[in-house]
Amino acid sequence: MRKLGRGRILAAATLAVAAGVLLPGSGQAADPVAGQRDRVVLAIHGGAGTAVPPEQEETYRQVLRAALEAGFKVLRSGGSSLDGTEAAVRNMEDSGLFNAGKGAVFNTDAQHELDASVMRGRDLRGGAVAGVQHIKNPISLARLVMDKSPHVLMAGQGAEMFAREQGVTTVPQDYFFTERRWKELLEAKKNDPNREKLQFGTVGAVALDGAGDLAAATSTGGLTNKLVGRIGDSPLLGAGTYAKNATAAISCTGTGESFIRTSAAHEISALMEHGRMPVRQAAEKVVREEVPAANGTGGVIALDRNGVLATPYSSKSMIFGYVTADGRFTLRPTG
Ligand code: ASP
Repeated sequence: MRKLGRGRILAAATLAVAAGVLLPGSGQAADPVAGQRDRVVLAIHGGAGTAVPPEQEETYRQVLRAALEAGFKVLRSGGSSLDGTEAAVRNMEDSGLFNAGKGAVFNTDAQHELDASVMRGRDLRGGAVAGVQHIKNPISLARLVMDKSPHVLMAGQGAEMFAREQGVTTVPQDYFFTERRWKELLEAKKNDPNREKLQFGTVGAVALDGAGDLAAATSTGGLTNKLVGRIGDSPLLGAGTYAKNATAAISCTGTGESFIRTSAAHEISALMEHGRMPVRQAAEKVVREEVPAANGTGGVIALDRNGVLATPYSSKSMIFGYVTADGRFTLRPTG
């Protein structure tokens, strides 16, 4: 009985914090993202395994900051965690620096096929697109699938038709071209196709809003030199993206096939829910044990309902950053 009572008190305190009730001082209007000041409210990643050369670190730092600012602005003005993650990911998709949106990698036919997904922890609603070729911001199309269709995942031509109906910005394939990705394709074609590809560059975001709702978003061009029609983990809820208010919001990057086979994002949530593991332990177990056991490498960002962030990776590095409720930014272009 005593234990139950204590549990209830703790749960109530957690809710109060999540709702932004525990405000420091003053009779000012409630700040929707205030509460525990060092609580992480938004985190982003720019992919596992990308070696950022020292002379480019500052550029990556600036782009990470801009993406975090875009998402944090939404949260500060009372926007939802879903809106915050979408804003941050859109920003990264537009930057040309990551394997998502502009800057997406080439498939084996020198085309771009992009995947993205969003998920909301409050009601397990989500939306995703796979293999789209003309959508400037796949993350926003994923959001529209969630908001404006009865479906969760749409692929290829049908997804593009839906995009046109929704008035989404479309672009020619050339829009996604970058010299760097072209060189990577040529390089990949010279190499043994079975050689492990360690540069990823997918982008993702996880957020916690003033109402205590978690959300996750992931966007990618997939893997360099992938077969036409290959779909990775990023648009699959439970594999590359997952959010559940009772546990965590998770976005993954790495060898998509291994993240699919281990249901990596959902596995982290399940270990928390059924195995009673804290977020960091659950995320470490999946990234360091389960994904490698399925021949994969990569990393995740996982944010729990109390604002505790886990950023484990098994690759050499992972680009990531986060911002706390009091507006402190941490930028980690080299992991
Ligand atoms: N996970 C992505 C995929 O397999 C790749 C990445 O993380 O960059 O499509």
